Amino acid sequence: MSTHSAPLPSTCCYCGVGCGVLITPEKNGDVTVAGNPDYPVNRGALCSKGLNLQYTVNDRSDRLLYPQMRYSKSRPLQRVSWDDALARTAAVFKTFIERYGPDSVAFYASGQCLTEEYYVLNKLMKGFIGSNNLDTNSRLCMSSAVVGYKMALGEDSVPVCYDDIELADCFLITGANPAWCHPILWRRVEAHKAANPATKVIVVDPRATDSTALADLHLQLIPGTDVVLHQALARALIEAGDIDLAFIEQHAEGFEAYRAIVMARPLAESAAQCGVPEADIRLAASYLGSARAFLSMWTMGLNQSAVGVDKNLSLLNLHLITGQIGRPGAGPLSLTGQPNAMGGREVGGLSNLLPAHRDLANPAHRAEVQQFWGSGPLAATPGYTATEMFEALEDGRLKAIWILCTNPLTSLPNVRQAEAALAKAKFVVVQEISNQPETLAYADVILPAAAWAEKEGTMTNSERRISHLAKVVDAPGEALPDAEIICRFARAMGFAGFDFANTEAIYQEHTRLTAGTRLDISGLNYAVLRARCSVQWPYRAGQAAPETARLFTDQQFATPSGRARIQPVAVAFRSEAPDADFPFILTTGRIRDQWHTMSKTGKVSKLRQHIPRAFLEIHPDDAASLGVREDDLVVVSSRRGEVRVAARLSAAIRPGVVLLPMHWGRSLGSDLNRANNVTSGTIDPISKEPDFKFCAVQVLKYRKP
Ligand code: SF4
Repeated sequence: MSTHSAPLPSTCCYCGVGCGVLITPEKNGDVTVAGNPDYPVNRGALCSKGLNLQYTVNDRSDRLLYPQMRYSKSRPLQRVSWDDALARTAAVFKTFIERYGPDSVAFYASGQCLTEEYYVLNKLMKGFIGSNNLDTNSRLCMSSAVVGYKMALGEDSVPVCYDDIELADCFLITGANPAWCHPILWRRVEAHKAANPATKVIVVDPRATDSTALADLHLQLIPGTDVVLHQALARALIEAGDIDLAFIEQHAEGFEAYRAIVMARPLAESAAQCGVPEADIRLAASYLGSARAFLSMWTMGLNQSAVGVDKNLSLLNLHLITGQIGRPGAGPLSLTGQPNAMGGREVGGLSNLLPAHRDLANPAHRAEVQQFWGSGPLAATPGYTATEMFEALEDGRLKAIWILCTNPLTSLPNVRQAEAALAKAKFVVVQEISNQPETLAYADVILPAAAWAEKEGTMTNSERRISHLAKVVDAPGEALPDAEIICRFARAMGFAGFDFANTEAIYQEHTRLTAGTRLDISGLNYAVLRARCSVQWPYRAGQAAPETARLFTDQQFATPSGRARIQPVAVAFRSEAPDADFPFILTTGRIRDQWHTMSKTGKVSKLRQHIPRAFLEIHPDDAASLGVREDDLVVVSSRRGEVRVAARLSAAIRPGVVLLPMHWGRSLGSDLNRANNVTSGTIDPISKEPDFKFCAVQVLKYRKP
């Protein structure tokens, strides 16, 4: 088929690697997608998900095409105009705000939102409605890393860049399976190791995976013992004299308190607690200690935990005691699960953040943002986080929730409780592209949104790289870009400051608000992004080298003292402990060819072929003790619910530990596939990130009643 016009650059809408793509519009309204050979992240390569992007755009069979609304809970949804839908929503929101205050309403958004969408949501909720009740599903993904960076380095900034992969001679991959979840980045690690066989790769994971297959050393720890392992590595480094005392003395604080904690626990005790041989811990420490430059990579295994902040801090401590930060090839690289979780953090798109990494607790920062927006005073107290929103709906503190770009009835922990909460909500708005998500059944108003390639905007990947995403095709029916929907709603509420001429005007306002901050991008605009392909922040316009590949190269950290903070993390256990009734540890995970709740990748038959249905991974010894054979239907139950799936026997997982993939939900079959029927609602006390990687379950062979 002949092409209609030249390809337009964009960025893959799945994981936080942020691969560049070229989208070509075809004459029939479809698109084709290819890797962008000039994009520095992927040089034209795409993983299986990226290679099939065009099918998710071209298959519009599930798309929502026009607004719908019902006038009471007992009446059916009916087609309405945009004006009617937004006018009624505004009237309901105003009523609740007048009667119960601004904290009676909330937005629950997504790490898939574009930066401009986050920006207007944040401005509307925090500046004009007067509440901080804007949270996103990034809370389920990266909030522990955000807290870790702020506590240790003084700001939420990833210090390294992807080019550090080719400069490192040791990798510590922990709580991640990048071979499946961040494949293009992993290919760079594989290629680097192939070219430099002396490069050491340590992978920490309770399971053997395609990532551990590359490892020189696989530390198959017991789930939840990451802090013990990190402290044990620190002790072995200290004992071997493999720490950087000069860096510690000049650029860090807190070492003595940390050292006392680390040295109090014998290595043999730590090894037994982690289920990892002491010799392997010493070997891993020797790899780290002798490395010229070591790079750590992590994601959900550390973040999605009741001790997620502790896990992050204890990992960052390893960089700080070895001085492995702020120089080429060395430092912590948190891998974001979503394509624009980073952009959301930059605009302050969580319920405890302000734009450009300003501090919500700082009155001067709140006043600065208020003055810039010309809004009312910003609330000083954080708003509800993701799980707190649904708790507040259930007990009536929250009256109305607006859910956009996310599918919480598959992705939230303890999801039966979230279902009950939505059933009790007084008013639910769902802004969506697809007619599949379970949330639609609870909606009083449904707003059809434009999808990827149907709207313009920007995103930031895991290495602080900002890219511009072109609009390539029109959205179907009456669907509108999310930013336009939010701005129209803000105007219907009677608020000034939302009459942007276009998406670029929103971006320009966002960049102006970063002026003078550490992530300053005030000299950035769409023209620069298009010309340079992408840009790593901070971006100092007018300088010969305006981009910033690495942070803290001067060893000056964003703390009052300028020193990084080595945190004396104590070992804590806050998860639901296994017992006689629920003897197995359940962890959740991802499969190679699906992304999140499958609302896009689930539409592609090629991707479904990899692993076509949900399953429970269980060790053959555990399966034998339960009388379970391969493909038998098993019932996985916890104190909160149950899942029925086929068993997959695998020696790759530790005995006593079982795994469910997180992707499946009701819209893709029976809701008995849904892992979050059983997961725990326990959250980290600081980051409020849920404990998806640890809860107690029972497993039984299914028997017909
Ligand atoms: Fe998309 Fe991530 Fe695959 Fe790159 S690695 S093509 S960003 S899913």
